Amino acid sequence: MKKALICGISGQDGAYLSQLLLEKNYEVCGTSRDAQMSSFGNLNRLGIAEHVKLESMSLTDFRSVLQVLNKIQPNEIYNLAGQSSVGLSFEQPVETLDSIATGTLNLLEAIRFIGAPIKLYNAGSSECFGDTGEGSAIETSPFRPRSPYAVAKAAAFWEVANYREAYGLFACSGILFNHESTLRPQRFVTQKIAAAAAKIARGDQQKLYLGNTDIKRDWGWAPEYVEAMYLMLQQDKPDDYVICTGESNKLEDFVAAAFACVNLDWREHVVIDKSLYRPTDIAVGRGHPAKAREVLGWQAKSKMQDVVRMMVEARIADGY
Ligand code: NDP
Repeated sequence: MKKALICGISGQDGAYLSQLLLEKNYEVCGTSRDAQMSSFGNLNRLGIAEHVKLESMSLTDFRSVLQVLNKIQPNEIYNLAGQSSVGLSFEQPVETLDSIATGTLNLLEAIRFIGAPIKLYNAGSSECFGDTGEGSAIETSPFRPRSPYAVAKAAAFWEVANYREAYGLFACSGILFNHESTLRPQRFVTQKIAAAAAKIARGDQQKLYLGNTDIKRDWGWAPEYVEAMYLMLQQDKPDDYVICTGESNKLEDFVAAAFACVNLDWREHVVIDKSLYRPTDIAVGRGHPAKAREVLGWQAKSKMQDVVRMMVEARIADGY
């Protein structure tokens, strides 16, 4: 039986990845900064909390990382932990850089120190590419980060590439574009929109305040994206992969689709609030997932319209 350690198991991806690996008969262990205090709401919502082993671990504390790796002795590590909000990274740049760049480095160092053939998946981000314009980013496209979050993810990406090259570690970065689900916290604009559409339709909310709705992004479905993470660690050779649907849409289209699900015209309910604009933002994020399709045999099934529908329907169903 293979053993996986999921750092950041309490998050959206951690929960879906746990579910996938349990289905594949893995022994699943996961870490949280404080496993005693966390409610692990996402694991509970998927009904799998009882099936995973939980540990406290601080990625920024090398001693803590080493101790957990020695105790669990995993075959595979999935590093999904760290400050994950682009918006919040402008308010907490140091915490963001520490949790992502130092955290990833500590994991790499611990694996190297232990000397066992542990495979590592690192949660990279399409934010590293910055504005892609009308082109499509692939694995070799240059990084032009435009937020503290993206700067931190770019650093972690190169740490992984360097340890792979210098020490022969089996370490991969998935350069994932946005992926959403019903587990997405409300801090993220997609869930804010889905929840608002459901609430406004019920009469529980009047207006939805949004920042720049002209931005274009590629939105996929998180349960599908965790499969790509798993597949990367099953290859003969470690490598980096862009994971996306290949289709970019305006945030305005996402909003329109969400309100259309509840038979409302978004223009009557959305207010653009310039105070919600980011200091620097990406106008267009677009990717091309050809390598993932060819090497991993992975392809996104759900596109933006499906993602919106599933999120809004869930918010209507749970009365949130
Ligand atoms: P979440 O925010 O849902 O989960 C991340 C987990 O990391 C949290 O559950 C939390 O666990 C831990 N964490 C949060 N803040 C910190 C911090 N400051 N220091 C250390 N740990 C922290 O993220 P997702 O599941 O959505 O994403 C997983 C990974 O993939 C993240 O690294 C994210 O940046 C990356 N990513 C996500 C994308 C997406 O669209 N979802 C796109 C591209 C990359 P706890 O509180 O239990 O310690």
